[in-house]
Amino acid sequence: MPMRPSRPLLCLLFSVLCLGLSAPAQAKITALVGGRLIDGWGGTPINNSVVLIDGERIKAVGTVDTLPVPAGAEVVDCRGMSVLPGLWECHAHLMLLGHPDYTHWDATYLKRIEKEIMPAAAHQLLNAGVTSAMDLGAPLEASLNVRSRIAKGEIAGPTLYVSGPFLQHQPYPGTEAFRWGITGADDARAKVKQLADAGVNVIKVVDQDEMTEAEIEAVVSEAHARKLPVIAHSHRPDEIRLGLKFGVDRFEHTGLATAPEFPADIIKLIQERTAKMSLGPLYWCPTIEGFFNYEYNVANPMHIIDPGWQLDVPADIVADIKGAVKQPGRFAYYQITPLRAKTSAAKFAQLQKSGVVLLIGTDSGIPMKFHNQSTWRELDIWVNKLGVDPMSALRAATYWPAVSMKVDQDYGTIQEGKFADIIAVKGDVLRYIDLLQRVDVVIKHGKRSK
Ligand SMILES: [Zn+2]
Repeated sequence: MPMRPSRPLLCLLFSVLCLGLSAPAQAKITALVGGRLIDGWGGTPINNSVVLIDGERIKAVGTVDTLPVPAGAEVVDCRGMSVLPGLWECHAHLMLLGHPDYTHWDATYLKRIEKEIMPAAAHQLLNAGVTSAMDLGAPLEASLNVRSRIAKGEIAGPTLYVSGPFLQHQPYPGTEAFRWGITGADDARAKVKQLADAGVNVIKVVDQDEMTEAEIEAVVSEAHARKLPVIAHSHRPDEIRLGLKFGVDRFEHTGLATAPEFPADIIKLIQERTAKMSLGPLYWCPTIEGFFNYEYNVANPMHIIDPGWQLDVPADIVADIKGAVKQPGRFAYYQITPLRAKTSAAKFAQLQKSGVVLLIGTDSGIPMKFHNQSTWRELDIWVNKLGVDPMSALRAATYWPAVSMKVDQDYGTIQEGKFADIIAVKGDVLRYIDLLQRVDVVIKHGKRSK
């Protein structure tokens, strides 16, 4: 008669198996211990903090006195560090890597955007502590595929929110892959539907002052019917007036070229919009850093010499960019910048007073604005040139973007249950915001990449 295992033996075997299975689960706990926690809610930072991460999510938040670190946890020593939510870059262009000539870039590299360029940009952003990014204007398939490959963990990068192609009156020649022209209200609805069905997160509209009112109305109402926010440029006064009239949710840039300030009627319209509580906040992403750093960048091209922007970028593209940025003071794109810089602070101040919720975004990827450094530079200018208090600046890069995308149940603050998107940096970022230029620890969805 073959020997049959006894019942107690089976129980023992079962227990051993269970222990065997539970042991790795236990080891998944990561504990960030001893840091000064800025949790994203804006309150007093918590000294000697403990953050426990279980898998992708935050399991508990406390202090070394109140929250024991479980035995076997992987401890990250954060003493002397600021610990804060992963940053959001609310206005990135992953299809660009800082090359100053768009015509050349599009003609030469469109085919390499999805497999080489966007992944490099994404990796650089993540390395800079950006765990969520909004990519506003790129070919549709490339946007969706890169977003999905990041989400699956196939390539490194922030959680992406994408618009796919810009919607506008007419694409500029050679840009049809990422700019869709609108011809009539029906076409506007059809294009928004196509984008929504494909799964974009937002609709991006530019040059809306060249569209008919019926077209703008169609874009916004169709987007809202599909629960997609509409993000629009604000370069010209009528872009803002029409955007507000038809219910755009967010504006980009401080616009209006060298105009000394936003006209009074526009400020009044913004105030009327922000007073409508039922519509939620009106968001504004000023992307303002470049104005203040342009002359410095030309005189001291340290950020070009820093090889951080070359991470994952193929050698031939690095060589092309290097060659093109040799004379950083000679780009047509930037010749008007010193004049715009003189009026930017006033317009920023007007926006601050108008009741909009300001977001950190940079136009990352445009000429000389590299993904490895764009976000901290924007924060630095807000704090050190525009007088924004550091906590508000950080919340414009953490809490508010998550709220604006209606994902604040999972993102934007460090608290129990949310995804563990956390960065840590040596020193006190509330005193020295530019410490964010060298983030020491980057954790996204519980996975440490730096
Ligand atoms: Zn942009």
